[in-house]
Amino acid sequence: MKFAIYTLGCKVNQYETQAMETELRRRGHELVSFEGTADAYIVNTCAVTAMSGHKSRQIIRRAQKQNPEAIVAVCGCYAQTDPKAVAELGVDLISGPDRRMEFLDEVEALLAERTAQPKVTVGNIMSTRTFEELPAGGLSGRTRAMLKVEDGCVNFCSYCIIPYARGPVRSLPLEKAVAEARTLADKGYKEIVVTGIEISSWGQERRDGQTLTDLVEALCAAAPACRIRLGSLEPRTVTEDFCRRLSGLHNLCPHFHLSMQSGCDETLKRMNRKYDTARYYESVSLLRQWFDRPGITTDLIVGFPGETEEEFGATLDFIRKCAFTAMHIFPYSRRPGTPADTMSGQVPKAVKEERVRRAAGVAAELEQRYLQSLVGRTLPVLFEEPAKTKELSPCLWRGHAPNYAEVQAASSDDLHNIEVPVRITGVDGTSLTGELID
Ligand code: SF4
Repeated sequence: MKFAIYTLGCKVNQYETQAMETELRRRGHELVSFEGTADAYIVNTCAVTAMSGHKSRQIIRRAQKQNPEAIVAVCGCYAQTDPKAVAELGVDLISGPDRRMEFLDEVEALLAERTAQPKVTVGNIMSTRTFEELPAGGLSGRTRAMLKVEDGCVNFCSYCIIPYARGPVRSLPLEKAVAEARTLADKGYKEIVVTGIEISSWGQERRDGQTLTDLVEALCAAAPACRIRLGSLEPRTVTEDFCRRLSGLHNLCPHFHLSMQSGCDETLKRMNRKYDTARYYESVSLLRQWFDRPGITTDLIVGFPGETEEEFGATLDFIRKCAFTAMHIFPYSRRPGTPADTMSGQVPKAVKEERVRRAAGVAAELEQRYLQSLVGRTLPVLFEEPAKTKELSPCLWRGHAPNYAEVQAASSDDLHNIEVPVRITGVDGTSLTGELID
């Protein structure tokens, strides 16, 4: 069959798409572009915001128009949280974010024998206890591979639908993660991103005392020629022990995406986040104490229900205190099915947008200050692709340093997937510029 896949959402969804692609090719099927004519269209959906649900429906309709004779199979988080809404679109198969390999069997079966009604195989995700092991890898041509080590979340932040879409915590056993890391290194990947829905919870359901720190140590030892980069972390993970043990690992990237969401204790309480600003700041300080100029990035939601101008002011002050090196800033988006959706004090859209602008202004200042502080240093850069047209000679290449700073440097050699020391000479927008050091 000719198949096409469209992926919405996070790194975990992208990882699972790459695994489904790999498996269908292994079964002899042909991947075609989603804009092309396929026998089966797979839409891997996201449910994180109401807008993601809306976008998922749009993509489903596009697939149906692309080839009305084709199978349209929908999977992922939105299919899990809203199977009825998906069924109303008249698709052929509906499955959640789990059982990915069985889902592919069902797509093949449907191609052989079409059914009048959508086949719905969405299960009770809250009772899922096993971690589904999928073939690891990166999307073709990428220098960076993702390694999914954890699924599910039990934190129930009040604005988040994920625990209802992904179910409880399940972890990839350490030995299996180590084997996957070795496989990825053997495939020539120079960087492995340790990802999951909430990797800080890795191993917690197995109660054998193993923690994310143990896993990271083992992965760094298993793939010494690879950089190991961590996905999003919760502040509770960053302890003295975490920092002391991981700061000694030569191939761990000193880049920590420490999810914050708000810099005000009252707002954090309404979000049901599991820390206050004091504990959060302790994590930031520990990272700066143990790592040399680490990249510390974060997520921020502004305009959460009940957020007053005073609370927002406290968040702006806290951002400055933490001096983040880059930030992702989102206006709060109501998500039906979450406690925050029915909270009083919903903030008007215009106020949210204005707060996004103000927070982005502070974030840009902090990012520039960090980038300027790196001028004159030499950083190892893993180059990914030409920054500008290849015709230019020498060509300008783009890559990332271990602290996740983007770096551009000129070379007439093909630098794809090559790590080279670069002397940083300046800042161009949100990128560093530099010269290769032979
Ligand atoms: S930690 Fe909170 S925001 Fe993150 S997936 Fe879990 S419930 Fe959602």
